[in-house]
Amino acid sequence: MSAIFKRTKILATVGPASDSPELIEQMIVAGANGFRLNFSHAAYDAAAANIIKIRAASIKIAKPVAILQDLQGPKVRLGVLQGEQLVTAGDILRLDYGAEHDGLTLPVQYNLAEKVQVGQPLYLFDGKVRTVVTEIASSTAILARVENDGVLMSKKGINLPETDFGGDIITEKDMSDISWGADKDIDYVALSFVQSAADIDNLQTLLTERGSQARIIAKVETKASIEPEVLEAIVKASDGVMVARGDLAVEVGPEVVPIVQRRIIALCRRYGKLSIVATQMMASMVDNPEPTRAEVSDVATAVVLGADTVMLSDETAMGRYPLETVAAMKRVIVYTQENTPPDSILEVLGNDHNQRAAIGQAAVKLAEDLDVQAIVAETKSGATARDIAAFRPNLPIISVTSEERTAQQLALAYANKSFIRPDGEKAGLSLAKELQSQNFFDKQRSTVVIVSGRQPGLVGGTDTIRVRVLE
Ligand code: PGA
Ligand code: MN
Repeated sequence: MSAIFKRTKILATVGPASDSPELIEQMIVAGANGFRLNFSHAAYDAAAANIIKIRAASIKIAKPVAILQDLQGPKVRLGVLQGEQLVTAGDILRLDYGAEHDGLTLPVQYNLAEKVQVGQPLYLFDGKVRTVVTEIASSTAILARVENDGVLMSKKGINLPETDFGGDIITEKDMSDISWGADKDIDYVALSFVQSAADIDNLQTLLTERGSQARIIAKVETKASIEPEVLEAIVKASDGVMVARGDLAVEVGPEVVPIVQRRIIALCRRYGKLSIVATQMMASMVDNPEPTRAEVSDVATAVVLGADTVMLSDETAMGRYPLETVAAMKRVIVYTQENTPPDSILEVLGNDHNQRAAIGQAAVKLAEDLDVQAIVAETKSGATARDIAAFRPNLPIISVTSEERTAQQLALAYANKSFIRPDGEKAGLSLAKELQSQNFFDKQRSTVVIVSGRQPGLVGGTDTIRVRVLE
């Protein structure tokens, strides 16, 4: 391959700073593999227009990319305040669903009275103002005692680390967003503030009922979700997990986040699920053309740990340097993978050592022993390619699939590069020959490992590993 192939993927949030067709295309060229549409902000017409722009750019440069619909979940926010509201330790706030701002009476966009209990902590403005609930004052209002001096502004977020939403985390807004997205060209749906695996099962039911083929990403950002058994159950129930470090840091303390990040990536690798590291990876690039040393180190750490994907939020959504940020992230990924790649072979994959996983492991072992140019996977649903990726080979996984959706979803999977071709006996070998003839591997004589099933196009039929020399 002419340029070094980047194995850790980049998911960029689309926003006002990056939603022109030109920038979307340039970001894909610079290294973006997928785009996040943030439904905490997106209006439907803008989101629909962005989907069209992303697909047009992706087709133009012949690179499948993933689109992720990020659902807001029970993100509680203040309503609109008349300017700033100063608060002092000892003040009693009245947080009232639908009320007007009047001094210490503050409007909230969610009926907290139905969920919170007296004595629970309630943090405002990313934890800048800490309070404790002192009273459920009416069917729509609660009282909370302020613990530290601070200032509040319109629409700032509220975190409730001890509050159990009782399996009721999919809001009315989420419901309409899910229905809207079900017939759109969306590859992943991410759910915010997941508290248990049941939340994921509920979302799966809603998607299935609406005919959506989107795969589910659980955003881990609540205290409840990082309990060891709960986290493992969430990983198993989901198709992937996002380490949503912004809210997670507010809910459990920033010092907990790096360790949770390691646990999540390890669990996702164990179960062959997608792992995404998100939030503030290159935050200073919102205003600056270069990342800080600490940010570079953060991205490098995610690569060494073996994350599938690293994410950009404000950096690309509203920053001054969206393209430079994607390019800088790619440079860090490539340098790191060439010097300290993640461990490639794991001891176990899942509890049930199934045939496909065992074949994935054997293919990676064979590919690395023979020092081949790529592993080629014939894959219908993407499962074969994902099970190979779980073993983190330090070489490209070339996926050949007849399904556009699969190619788009695999765009976020470690080391994957997908091609859409008809199902057929020799789909993998023909693609490998085609790539060889285009000097894709930069070698006169390349060797590849091909993983396939005897019946092309059959999901779950993977049973063959071949080594092929391409002249
Ligand atoms: P958000 O999720 O940007 O939707 O809040 C990510 C995070 O909390 O880190
Ligand atoms: Mn969040």
